[in-house]
Amino acid sequence: MKAHDGMYIDGAWRPAAGRDTIAVVNPADEQVIAEVPAGGAEDVDAAVRAARAALPGWAATAPAERAARIAALRDVLVARKEEIAETVTAELGAPLPFSQAVHAGVPILVAGSYAGLAASYAFEEKVGNSTVYAEPVGVVGAITPWNYPLHQIVAKVAPALAAGCTIVLKPAEDTPLTAQLFAEAVHEAGVPAGVFNLVTGVGPVAGQALAEHEGVDLVSFTGSTAVGRKIGATAGAAVKRVALELGGKSANVILPSADLARAVGVGVANVMGNSGQTCSAWTRMLVHTSQYDEAVALAAEAAAKYGDRIGPLVNAKQHARVRSYIEKGVAEGARLVAGGPEAPREQGYFVSPTVFADVTPEMTVAQEEIFGPVVSLIRYEDEDDALRIANGTVYGLAGAVWAGDEAEAVAFARRMDTGQVDINGGRFNPLAPFGGYKQSGVGRELGSHGLAEYLQTKSLQF
Ligand code: NAD
Repeated sequence: MKAHDGMYIDGAWRPAAGRDTIAVVNPADEQVIAEVPAGGAEDVDAAVRAARAALPGWAATAPAERAARIAALRDVLVARKEEIAETVTAELGAPLPFSQAVHAGVPILVAGSYAGLAASYAFEEKVGNSTVYAEPVGVVGAITPWNYPLHQIVAKVAPALAAGCTIVLKPAEDTPLTAQLFAEAVHEAGVPAGVFNLVTGVGPVAGQALAEHEGVDLVSFTGSTAVGRKIGATAGAAVKRVALELGGKSANVILPSADLARAVGVGVANVMGNSGQTCSAWTRMLVHTSQYDEAVALAAEAAAKYGDRIGPLVNAKQHARVRSYIEKGVAEGARLVAGGPEAPREQGYFVSPTVFADVTPEMTVAQEEIFGPVVSLIRYEDEDDALRIANGTVYGLAGAVWAGDEAEAVAFARRMDTGQVDINGGRFNPLAPFGGYKQSGVGRELGSHGLAEYLQTKSLQF
């Protein structure tokens, strides 16, 4: 596939300082499809300098003009939608229709929402005898994962641009081609040189150099809790702003009054989408003991229907990791009713849609983020028991509640220690804040809450 052999810094593609490269692999057939440069501290430094130099000009640009650039970026994403979908499919392995609808479609919605917010946000406000200004935080270091390669980038870059910040992006090593395509789109949209910069590279080298760089004012990270903890500690030591979107182990709570078949069907689909590589996936299905056997049968049937329609996992490491979690589930006494640890194909990092029954809340598969197509069915005795189980992990990112009566579902959702809950299925809202309670993270993405992460306030008294 087409790839740039440099970094996008200060409005142009420039050769990397070193000679290291990253091989990009198609996870569906394990073939190397491209190579990109693996940047180091020198590349990161050049990018941060470019971002610092561009900051005063972009911060002083009128919000309406910033909004116009974001709207232009959205239009480029629309015009290049097919190419984006094909690129994500090539490096992540997602089936093309899913890439078209979700991987290319959602970033268009999010970019569009920030074109609107940049134009309408109250960057200046009167409070009594004061005027309060919302000013950009400064230079943003954005570190993103591979699971939704373009969405994760746009969810950081679009609000940062709207706020008047400048950005250095270090995307995941597995999906750099989507990031390069995004840099092309930013360029085409007429965003001024230095406002957005891209350094491809590996986490412990380029990522760490970016997180530690003293020219970066805010580090916005999405990925594993282990790395997030490290980035938070680094930022804390430097008294630097940090936003962390980390893992999840979200509960799908099906109350007895719910439409069971629908709740189970949508619940299984929620986990199988993107092959389970979704931080907000409802990986624990909580079912009342009186309906448990019926739910298990429905879930097994729903998973079996997926057959080989789901894509592979992103790489060999995740393939081995997810299968070892499935083995651990069996070893700890959970009952497999669909799928299993065996790789269903010789080539490609595929895992069968897997359903575990007889899962108890303390089992590893009920506590740790698997990041694969695995759903665990847990039984509860009453609502308090369901709440205890739902809240009984270190995470709190998302969740779902199903009930015959919406008010009943809302009452339960309000007691959950989690950042986002879908009621009776819900519907994606690009303006709704997304982010974690507990160890799922710090800060929010999307909508005006996401924009506020990139702002700091100044008040003048009269
Ligand atoms: P990761 O946390 O290692 O990688 C995420 C990003 O951080 C990548 O860009 C990576 O290069 C960078 N990075 C890695 N080490 C770094 C360091 N020391 N300093 C700075 N940046 C660094 O995640 P992963 O290994 O790709 O995936 C492992 C697990 O993380 C998954 O199984 C899943 O549980 C979780 N995960 C969560 C999300 C999410 O959206 N919350 C996304 C991807 C992965």
